[in-house]
Amino acid sequence: RSADSVRVAVRVRPFSQREKNSGRRCVVSMHSQSTTIQDPKNGEHLKTFTFDLAYWSHDGYQKDKDGILIPSNPNSKFAGQIHVFHDIGRGILDSAWRGYNATLLAYGQTGSGKSYSMIGFGTNKGIIPRVCEELFQAIKTQKENIELQVMFSMLEIYNEQIRDLLSRTKTPGGLKVREDPQLGFFVEGLKWVPCENYAQIEKLMEQGSKIRMTASTSMNASSSRSHMVITIQFKQIFLDTALTKQSSINMVDLAGSERQKSSGAEGDRLREGSRVNLSLTSLGNVISALADSAMGKKVLHIPYRDSVLTKLLQSALGGNSRTTLIAAISPADICYEETLSTLRYAERTKKVQNKAVINTCALG
Ligand code: ADP
Ligand code: MG
Repeated sequence: RSADSVRVAVRVRPFSQREKNSGRRCVVSMHSQSTTIQDPKNGEHLKTFTFDLAYWSHDGYQKDKDGILIPSNPNSKFAGQIHVFHDIGRGILDSAWRGYNATLLAYGQTGSGKSYSMIGFGTNKGIIPRVCEELFQAIKTQKENIELQVMFSMLEIYNEQIRDLLSRTKTPGGLKVREDPQLGFFVEGLKWVPCENYAQIEKLMEQGSKIRMTASTSMNASSSRSHMVITIQFKQIFLDTALTKQSSINMVDLAGSERQKSSGAEGDRLREGSRVNLSLTSLGNVISALADSAMGKKVLHIPYRDSVLTKLLQSALGGNSRTTLIAAISPADICYEETLSTLRYAERTKKVQNKAVINTCALG
């Protein structure tokens, strides 16, 4: 893997209570970097995928006194939230300090563990809060002659419309994506909040999640059909040399990747389903085109402009960013088809080549 390839991790979650009660079988196994899935209809039919990272979070765990899931014994291969943060979150922070843009995407069917990895639940905090917390911890220890700025934004893409999750006023039709010849695509009128400590970000994320929940409830929709994008702009100003380094960190909890069932869906729900798919389908198309191009095929056009999501992720895919994808999968036999499709998606994504550069410039 070259330094600029998209890094791909796969993570398998525990059985839910319902899966346990209904006697589901685990069809996923992992050995170092390979992940194997077994076709429940034909036990001899195995498929193996190799990714940069494979996280076994299915079994071999216990709860500590704070309710945090940890390996149950020293030989357990269970990967908890801290383990995942150490690999992925630390990489993002390292990129940010060096002035590279960084992107983290969570992909997978609804209920596979995307939000668990990204945001987390209760004391089992996910990558995003841990990245923010460590960023401010490191900022505290910085020398006097550096000025540091952190700006935070949080949005949702639903039905190809952008909603600012930090703003209580709802813009009819949503916020618009504009294109700047220098900066590329950006969201016009998006709220950016300057932050000075982790507690502030924690509060913003809480508010944003609340707005997201309320919005989806009032529209009688599920937040599993929307994409959530958290962006942190991190700027270092070196006062001695009057140089700056800047990093944009995108962290995206994607909509559920499951194919929309055509039966039963009518009217609004059908339109909603197909339009959410537009962003996700476009993402798949962009990734496929980039993967083909990296494999030496002649690709004339990368369809970034097809959807809101692909516009916003343009630099994350094939551009100026160090990008990681987490493919979240269910262990259960009934999810076999979706799991296979997620692993294939991840396989394509790992071929994508970026061109990350340090964003530095002279002040003034
Ligand atoms: P998604 O966001 O993909 O729809 P969630 O993150 O909400 O899925 O996960 C579904 C359920 O599975 C949640 O109750 C969550 O607590 C649990 N879960 C997911 N991943 C893990 C994990 N790695 N360890 C423990 N529980 C998990
Ligand atoms: Mg979720």
